[in-house]
Amino acid sequence: MRISIRIFSALFLLTLVAGCSGSKEPLNVRIEPRDKWEAAPPRPFKTHIPEKITVHHEGTFFDPAKQSAAEHIKRVQTWGMGKDRNWIDIPYHYLIDFDGTIYEGRNVFTVGETNTEYDPAGHLLISCLGNFQEQEVGEKQLTALIELLAHSCKKFDISPDSIRTHRDYAKTDCPGKNMYKYFSDGTVIERVKEILKSRPVQGI
Ligand SMILES: [Zn+2]
Repeated sequence: MRISIRIFSALFLLTLVAGCSGSKEPLNVRIEPRDKWEAAPPRPFKTHIPEKITVHHEGTFFDPAKQSAAEHIKRVQTWGMGKDRNWIDIPYHYLIDFDGTIYEGRNVFTVGETNTEYDPAGHLLISCLGNFQEQEVGEKQLTALIELLAHSCKKFDISPDSIRTHRDYAKTDCPGKNMYKYFSDGTVIERVKEILKSRPVQGI
């Protein structure tokens, strides 16, 4: 009898420990390197330190069942570095596919680019593939965005309260009404804060 009580207690303790460690599951954000989308090398660039984060949509309707994210990202780079814009690289620091895959964009210490009137110096630019005036945000895409935001806040010592979207700075629909709703109702910033409070952030 005594032995079975001991076994029962041990199992009970194990369950408790497992339960606790579950809520402290580390956040380990995986970022696919530029090679994955066959990036062209950047031209010489102006540096900055990211102090705030701005979220965008890429702005083109994207069908994840029919299109390749890597090919699309490559096209965005080719367009941006072309003679009309002549940017040094793809405009964003990170891009997120519908399936939650995060791709490395330009060097995070490079000032991003914009077609609108705000100054992106000091802004970390995160863009989600798609046009969220026309389509819904992918569920995995939203989770990846929130995790990347938490990861970036920790990595660059940025307050989650400074996370904004493009339309908060400039006259634009970006990041589209179907993405913006998660910012205007506080969902995104709340979930970022929750992660930072409850989970250790790894790999930074
Ligand atoms: Zn934008």
